[in-house]
Amino acid sequence: KMRVRYAPSPTGHLHIGNARTALFNYLFARHNKGKFIVRIEDTDTKRNIQDGETSQLDNLRWLGIDWDEGPDVGGKYGPYRQSERKDIYLKYIQQLLDQGLAYHSYKTEDELTAEREAQIEKGIAPHYVYEYAGMSDEQIAKSQQESEAKGLTPVVRFRVPNELYEWDDIVKGKISFEGNTVGGDFVIQKRDGMPTYNFAVVIDDHLMEISHVLRGDDHIANTPKQLMIYDALEWERPEFGHMTLIVNTETGKKLSKRDESILQFIEQYRELGYLPDAMFNFITLLGWSPVGEDEIFSKQELIKAFDPERLSKSPASFDAKKLEWVNNQYVKTANPDMLLDLSLHNLIEKGLVEKDPTPEKIEWVRQLVSLYSEQMSYTAQLAEFADIFFKEPDTLSEEAMAELADETAPVVLKAFHDKLEQLDHFTSVQIMAVIKEIQKETKVKGRKLFMPVRIATTRSMHGPGIGESIELLGRQKTMKHIQQTLN
Ligand code: GLU
Repeated sequence: KMRVRYAPSPTGHLHIGNARTALFNYLFARHNKGKFIVRIEDTDTKRNIQDGETSQLDNLRWLGIDWDEGPDVGGKYGPYRQSERKDIYLKYIQQLLDQGLAYHSYKTEDELTAEREAQIEKGIAPHYVYEYAGMSDEQIAKSQQESEAKGLTPVVRFRVPNELYEWDDIVKGKISFEGNTVGGDFVIQKRDGMPTYNFAVVIDDHLMEISHVLRGDDHIANTPKQLMIYDALEWERPEFGHMTLIVNTETGKKLSKRDESILQFIEQYRELGYLPDAMFNFITLLGWSPVGEDEIFSKQELIKAFDPERLSKSPASFDAKKLEWVNNQYVKTANPDMLLDLSLHNLIEKGLVEKDPTPEKIEWVRQLVSLYSEQMSYTAQLAEFADIFFKEPDTLSEEAMAELADETAPVVLKAFHDKLEQLDHFTSVQIMAVIKEIQKETKVKGRKLFMPVRIATTRSMHGPGIGESIELLGRQKTMKHIQQTLN
């Protein structure tokens, strides 16, 4: 039976790359009616951040990912936080020590550094050198007692066998490593008593009966070490699949948290008003593709279509423009109340709408959102697209000035101004009727009629429906803008 897991370390917020790992595991589990488990890998206590776990889980839920077992929902394979499983790890570390497959090592950090530097100096790959080579059991015991007497704290190292480690990777095909290429005997228990990632991950994946490990290919070099532990404990290995990394389309470089040209945390997109279903859709297409050319899929469709065989073997390209496009597809058909909420949040945040808006103001924003929802990629763009509604008009572009240079423009605008003054209801229907009347009276029509009206009122040559735009601009601002243009 299939059981897969997503195992975040709470060392930061939910990154696009991690979200993708979670999502593929989720789709894989749901497609196969298996179980999806979240496990928190928090043994690197120095690197954990305060709200790392809650924020990651919250953002996963926001994306529409749910799990069958995890730190917050429980499950019979718990606890699901590595920091709460220390006793379990210690038991297996003891077992390996007893079997002579692991040992206490007392080399100090300074000694280790010196050893590494000397190796680099000689041009050989840095690796750990077994300190008890050629010693009898008694000699080893004596050396360890002396170290203890000196007050040194040991780590536990795993005795690396010199064998071939090979697996058939779900994404990459056959991968193999010689035992002697992993850098020598590696640490399985740190000086602070905590197990290392490479050790704990094996214990947990085994005890939690994980059948498939699907993770980023930055973990490939860890896999042989993990296989060694499986073998040492005589446990069956799960299947492994290592997904290619994500590169920034613009620079061609691997997405790195330091690259500020691109937003990389789910929270940042959420804050801008990106929609969870759109993010889910977009992230799934990072390094995976369904059969066919379509790019817009619901979660259910993706669950149905997901097949790890179609995970890409080459790096996935993160294209922020494509994300905008995908999101726009969702914004166009999104629930208006949801768009309104997101837009209000963005506008209030920017100080463009007061904190507790009146019902009239909320209604006005609702109409504004509906006016721009076709062209918006995300709701934070509203402030920018609809800036004429929030600030004093900019000076006109040369192109726009040229449109107004026509001799009919002032005639149209003057007539428009006078008729708007008389209007009893300032609604788009009435405003359009006024424009029709002007056409009849002045015989000016088409572009020569509409462009001056659009430019004078909205200060732009493009935009959504002119009647609705003017209605939302309101009588006062509209009149003022026309007057400014006429002067
Ligand atoms: N905690 C590891 C990480 O965040 C998980 C690696 C794995 O899936 O084995 O990279």
